[in-house]
Amino acid sequence: MSCLFCKIVQGEISTDKVYENDDVLAFNDIEPQAPVHVLIIPKDHYPNIQKTPSEDVAKIFDAIKEIAKQLNLDEGFRIVNNCGNFGGQTVDHLHFHLLGKRKLKWPPG
Ligand code: C5P
Repeated sequence: MSCLFCKIVQGEISTDKVYENDDVLAFNDIEPQAPVHVLIIPKDHYPNIQKTPSEDVAKIFDAIKEIAKQLNLDEGFRIVNNCGNFGGQTVDHLHFHLLGKRKLKWPPG
């Protein structure tokens, strides 16, 4: 298995875990871009959102809503999915960035 995030799911690489359920894992990004920067990933390997069944996407978003509640992101937050080369995706295992606890700018670069 060569996928970095699959290794995290399997416990071969340690992370700063924020949330876990049967289908989803969330951990702090190692290069945080905001005071809260959590990555939310499916435990199953999907390379990107285009290859992910909608029911699995829904489970991830349910988890994101729960994490945002647990982290008290009451003032708002941003969910980012970088997809493919032009989208800036660097890890080919579906993941969503949850950013919060600072005023974020728009548009992104
Ligand atoms: O969307 P993109 O594919 O660029 O995001 C990958 C993210 O994974 C980066 O924000 C990077 O900091 C994070 N990462 C991590 N732990 C690793 C490797 C990458 O949090 N071991």
